[in-house]
Amino acid sequence: MEAFGFHYSFWLTVGDNYMKLQLEEILAEGRALIAGADSESSLNDLRVQYLGKKGHLTAVMKTMAELSPAERPAFGKRVNEAKAALEELLDQRFREVRALELEKRLANERLDVTLPGRRLPQGTLHPITLVTEEVTRIFSTLGFGIVEGPEIENDYYNFEALNMPRNHPARDMQDTFYVSDDVVLRTHTSPVQIRTMLQHRPPLKVIAPGTVYRRDSDLTHSPMFHQVEGFLVDRQVTFGDLKGTLKTFLNRFFGRELGVRFRPSFFPFTEPSAEVDIACVICRGKGCRVCKDSGWLEILGCGMIDPEVFKAVGYDPAVVTGYAFGMGLERLCMLKNGINDLRLFFENDIRFLRQF
Ligand SMILES: [Zn+2]
Repeated sequence: MEAFGFHYSFWLTVGDNYMKLQLEEILAEGRALIAGADSESSLNDLRVQYLGKKGHLTAVMKTMAELSPAERPAFGKRVNEAKAALEELLDQRFREVRALELEKRLANERLDVTLPGRRLPQGTLHPITLVTEEVTRIFSTLGFGIVEGPEIENDYYNFEALNMPRNHPARDMQDTFYVSDDVVLRTHTSPVQIRTMLQHRPPLKVIAPGTVYRRDSDLTHSPMFHQVEGFLVDRQVTFGDLKGTLKTFLNRFFGRELGVRFRPSFFPFTEPSAEVDIACVICRGKGCRVCKDSGWLEILGCGMIDPEVFKAVGYDPAVVTGYAFGMGLERLCMLKNGINDLRLFFENDIRFLRQF
């Protein structure tokens, strides 16, 4: 028995040492693996691998049955200490990894909310387009329809039917681009009057905005510019109707009650004719550089449609009367916005265009 007892004890001792050795190895390996783990998921795997129900430490614990009852508590204590040590290491590394991951995510998803937003470049309508739309809107509310005509025009519509026969001195008023002997780039929007009157019978109440061309180029003239033509044809139309319509339009366009005056003038296609001035929008009539100290600004031309024009379109001047007016849209835009150089409209400098 003695011998057996010794033998037994020897094995127990060997077994205990072997198991201690194994425990140290497990602990050392676990420490190294935990320290090297760099993600929450690999740490979770290690926790299962070492501390789980089928983990290394549980396996070591199960071998305790091979120890003598006297040795068991000390070994059990060591296993529990190893378990606690690994648990603490895992928890600590877990916190570190979590902090690192958060740091990495914050760096990747960094968003400086104080930075101004990135705006997509947005276009704006050209000031002339805006003015055309506004003029059109105002006349629409006054009951005018809108018509358009071709920019390349027959001599007949541009001049002849408007009481400007060939060699008529009035043709000198407009330096014309000729496409051929009979075809011109329209010098005004008035040919739209002729086209409209030929196509329709009175009463007519229409405006015709559009592009026109003249051989002119300086601070206040451009070879291409924009006009709006307006006319009304009916029975018993008077100059008073014309004045009322234009005053209403000008007051609405400039947004306030303006001084308006009519000066006698001459146009081949109206009789009588007048030029219309408004009280200077800059100095309000007191006199300044823009109005050349006169207090007035020339804004449009108008008159009662000449009987010769009615004859050209087959209307009876004894029955119908009418008025017509025309104005430059660039000029309207310049006066409304205080722009002093006509060329700005056509230079396409977006620093200028963006202001509208
Ligand atoms: Zn003035």
